[in-house]
Amino acid sequence: MKPETLTQQVKVNNAKLFIDGEYVDALSGDTFESINPATNQRLALVANGSEQDAKRAIQSAKNAYDSGVWSKMPVEDRSDILCRMADLIMKNVDELAMVETLDVGKPIKESRGFDIPRAASNFRFFAEMSKYMVSEHYDKHNIMSYAKYSPAGVTSLIIPWNLPFMQMTWKASAALAAGNTVVIKPASYTPLSAVMFGDIANEAGLPPGVLNIITGPGSTMGSAMTTDPNVRRISFVGESSTGKTIMKNAAENLIPVSLELGGKSANIVFEDADLDEAVKGSIDAIYRNQGEICLAGSRLLLQESIYDQFMEKFVAAVKQIKIGDPTLEDTDMGALVSKNHLETVEAYVDIGVKEGAKLACGGRRITNIGDGNFYEPTVLYDVNNKWRVAQEEIFGPVLVVIPFKTEDEAVSIANDSQYGLAGVVWTNDIRRAQRVSAAVDSGLLWINCWYIRDLRTPFGGSKASGIGREGGRHSFEFYSEAKTITMKL
Ligand code: NAD
Repeated sequence: MKPETLTQQVKVNNAKLFIDGEYVDALSGDTFESINPATNQRLALVANGSEQDAKRAIQSAKNAYDSGVWSKMPVEDRSDILCRMADLIMKNVDELAMVETLDVGKPIKESRGFDIPRAASNFRFFAEMSKYMVSEHYDKHNIMSYAKYSPAGVTSLIIPWNLPFMQMTWKASAALAAGNTVVIKPASYTPLSAVMFGDIANEAGLPPGVLNIITGPGSTMGSAMTTDPNVRRISFVGESSTGKTIMKNAAENLIPVSLELGGKSANIVFEDADLDEAVKGSIDAIYRNQGEICLAGSRLLLQESIYDQFMEKFVAAVKQIKIGDPTLEDTDMGALVSKNHLETVEAYVDIGVKEGAKLACGGRRITNIGDGNFYEPTVLYDVNNKWRVAQEEIFGPVLVVIPFKTEDEAVSIANDSQYGLAGVVWTNDIRRAQRVSAAVDSGLLWINCWYIRDLRTPFGGSKASGIGREGGRHSFEFYSEAKTITMKL
């Protein structure tokens, strides 16, 4: 591989805060570096905001909200602007995809083929849906009651580093479609695609102050975004431990929260499954986005009767994964987001081996691609579900394989977890598919597939994986304030 392909730079405009429709420096003038995970070289300098900057952005969103310029705009006009944002995302798909790939370390074919188009779909979906929302109306004798849904107000959206543009637009499109104004904070590892979004908002005609984007430390800026009494909704995606802090902070002013948190989902393969299909789907479920996906099927539960046969096919398929420069079209797996994260993933593999896991493949850094955070796709097998590698979210390309004998045992292993985000079941027995999908304690469950989303359906997790559901009408309910009006006729 030619080293120059790894040092490709992209011109990143305006790596500043976006407040009240303008790009501005942090009040302190401070900046931090955004690093390319594939080279560990600087991509751009980014404004390092403070609590005061967060307050500025919240005030801008509050002024825009109170003016009614967005919250009282006819829904058809709001929808037109949001559709224009979707069009502009697709018009800029190549540049956005390249920035996302350089900032996150993910393969360009995923950024261009999935993340950015899905971001446009998020906007188009909620823009369209907002025009057709219906509300309840009940008659009882001579009493008529109906519900009126109004925007909630200023909304804080706090985003993680793994799927930054997709996650940001998933939240922002719904909050804006419901008539709110928003303050968005991307993660400090991956702020660049979010920063570019200000230009798109302006070009689409979104009024100033309706969308604000701030960059800087989660501890200070994030805490301002979750305690300020002017904020009326908080939607957070990130680690379960951060989610707890946010909920405590939000309690101070009783701000409603929606939390999409971590996962350690069971991917269960029964002996009657189509094994080739299950191998393909299970590879995707753990190694897509370098394993840095909350929904990852990171615990592979294999029925004992097919254990050896499946492992053989699976490991052969893992060896076909092409790891390399994320900007190249044929790369399947790129670099982990940071050196720190690489070390964490590596430490987990050591812990697993010490706990007694066997290493089927992987388990090493890759150093011949360049100076980036590359790690082999790794399979630990004969794992006990009680071990740390089976209980803790590794959030990298590390799969743990756990054997089971019966359906009941599979369900009990799947549910022996603090998390409850997703589950996957591979079987050709329709009754078993229904029994197991009902019994696994998770917010999402896929049968014979993984990560297929219909944006009308509820999305979210149970237990330590989150609170609340977004998607379709669930998003509109969260981002709105409902009022019941009752009239005696
Ligand atoms: P993180 O919790 O470290 O950070 C997420 C965001 O919160 C960042 O923008 C960060 O700056 C901000 N933040 C940090 N401390 C804060 C505070 N005290 N107050 C307010 N904001 C604060 O998570 P991460 O490492 O960026 O992302 C990885 C995690 O996200 C994994 O656990 C993954 O499972 C989870 N995730 C969940 C979903 C889901 O849909 N359930 C989706 C993607 C990622």
